[in-house]
Amino acid sequence: MFTLNKLKRMLKKYKILVADDESLNFLFYSEIINPEKFELIYVENGKDAIKTVYEMGDEISLVLMDMKMPELDGFAATREIRKFNTSIPIIAQTAYAYKEDYDNAIAAGCNDYISKPIHEDELLAKIFSFLPKEM
Ligand SMILES: [Mg+2]
Repeated sequence: MFTLNKLKRMLKKYKILVADDESLNFLFYSEIINPEKFELIYVENGKDAIKTVYEMGDEISLVLMDMKMPELDGFAATREIRKFNTSIPIIAQTAYAYKEDYDNAIAAGCNDYISKPIHEDELLAKIFSFLPKEM
């Protein structure tokens, strides 16, 4: 039997903020992330990422943060976001799997890390690991 709360959860779309200066990457995410379950919000730089998290707050379930962006990079944007939001999950994306990048991303306040080229299975597993378990 469905309770109303369970039904609401099933119908809920989880908002994912994608911050990436390359729109082709955003297209890639749009292809692999199920649109029935997720709504993607796209910004092209760190400044807009901060603004969006600030304005939408808890409405956003997760942030996919490119570390290399113009204006303000993902490291700086994450540090700023952590000043006012310590709970939102942030997954860092960088171009290469350098240990140093990983350490810097975690030090900036990211919860996890994925290196490009992004593998679909790995990305989805990481996204789901940060969402409520009833999904
Ligand atoms: Mg980039």
